[in-house]
Amino acid sequence: MDKRRIIKHFEGSEKEQSSGPVIYWMSREQRSEDNWPLSYAQELALKNNQPLLAVFTLMEDFLEANHSHYEFMLRGLEETAKNLENNHISFVLLQGDPAKTLPRFIEEHHIAYMVTDFDPLKKKRTLQENVADNISIPIDIVDGHNIVPITTASAKQEYGAYTLRPKLHKRLEEFLHQIPEVQKHPLVYKNRLPDISWDALLKSLVLKKNPHLEVTAPSGPRAARNQLQDFISNRLRNYSAYSNDPTKEVLSGLSPYLHFGQISSQRVLLILEESDFSASAVSDFVEQIFVRKELSDNYCYYNANYDNPQGFPDWAKKSLNAHRGDPREYLYGYQDFLYGKTHDKLWNAAQWELLKTGKIHGYLRMYWCKKIFEWTKSPEEAMEIAIRLNDGYSIDGRDPNGYTGIAWSIGGVHDRAWKERPVFGKIRYMNYNGAKRKFDVDTYIHTYLKDEDHE
Ligand SMILES: Cc1cc2nc3c(=O)[nH]c(=O)nc-3n(C[C@H](O)[C@H](O)[C@H](O)COP(=O)(O)OP(=O)(O)OC[C@H]3O[C@@H](n4cnc5c(N)ncnc54)[C@H](O)[C@@H]3O)c2cc1C
Repeated sequence: MDKRRIIKHFEGSEKEQSSGPVIYWMSREQRSEDNWPLSYAQELALKNNQPLLAVFTLMEDFLEANHSHYEFMLRGLEETAKNLENNHISFVLLQGDPAKTLPRFIEEHHIAYMVTDFDPLKKKRTLQENVADNISIPIDIVDGHNIVPITTASAKQEYGAYTLRPKLHKRLEEFLHQIPEVQKHPLVYKNRLPDISWDALLKSLVLKKNPHLEVTAPSGPRAARNQLQDFISNRLRNYSAYSNDPTKEVLSGLSPYLHFGQISSQRVLLILEESDFSASAVSDFVEQIFVRKELSDNYCYYNANYDNPQGFPDWAKKSLNAHRGDPREYLYGYQDFLYGKTHDKLWNAAQWELLKTGKIHGYLRMYWCKKIFEWTKSPEEAMEIAIRLNDGYSIDGRDPNGYTGIAWSIGGVHDRAWKERPVFGKIRYMNYNGAKRKFDVDTYIHTYLKDEDHE
């Protein structure tokens, strides 16, 4: 593996490396195929003739995640665990705080080396630091999420897509190549490992449920591949024309699979390279899944304030501060937003799309978030509410794309200054009439609001 994928290395304090297994601490990349950190862990294990184990640490309290997020994740992990076991890589699930469970496991099984997934989010980085503090073996943190490794793409926070785009495209040929397939591991780990009863595990978790959820996407790497194939065969050709129209189904629907690492964006691009679609449909989609997605990781990695207004660019902070005292025509609290009880039916319908399907269409996500800002007292409160709703109810939530999308909507991150207006200052504004020009708003409202809510 190209060593530029190793984003961080912890040396470990042990003088002599044990001859026990190598472990891959799986976290963001929950798949057995197209997985750089996993194939690198196998490369290390093969070099020294060591068994290879994959360990997942399950915490019940994770950034507002609810029952449907855990269900989606665990069903996918069940499939991934089977695929790994077929390759003689035992899958272990540890429940509780990884800073306690992993060191214990590492000691008990005389683990020699650990490889884990790169993640720009603070919660994951803190967990990795905490684990590293409590163990004495070396750890490599490997970027398996970005096609161009995060620190190779750029060594600093980028201003916008226009500054990162040329850097990414310049490197694409260098990095867009096949990911080594995981082989059947020649050394099987013989010691007893805990069995996993997936159904019992899911039942045992005490989690918040979203009682309004009506449809859930099938989970797992196989479902992710099917979703991609269906998109390429049936929707991609119309992507450029209708991606801002939530009444037409042209988007890929890949974000939950990408978020849980059930498919890699690198595989998506490799498959697209072989397809013969018109250049504009493919390039518009590549702009999202490659440039915008990797820009979000860049923002969260280089800006620790990605989840609060301190992270906004100076021009935006200044302008938002100048408009703090502006009177708001409407003011709502968390509960009004949660149950879609605003005066705006389009907004309410978007919120009900979230509650019923676990997702909001990409175009309406921007409108949804900007209105939360318009109808709350401050950017701080708006950001808190938007993150709580997005992380708590969106199946693809708790993702760098989400924090960056919210910071774009409220704080002009990766955007430019627009004509000054009340409340928003120089932040880009969106309104109902703009949405009406783009799509049939009534059809959308009727899809997600109950009849009694229409009047
Ligand atoms: C307020 C707000 C909140 C958002 N919350 C999330 C979130 O929690 N999780 C999430 O994955 N995305 C989020 N986004 C970004 C974007 O809206 C979603 O990625 C997209 O709607 C997912 O649907 P799709 O996979 O069908 O998109 P497609 O249009 O088919 O795009 C394919 C992939 O490209 C990437 N992508 C698309 N749009 C963006 C974007 N604007 N920024 C970064 N990457 C993008 C995603 O990985 C997406 O899955 C948010 C955007 C906003 C404005």
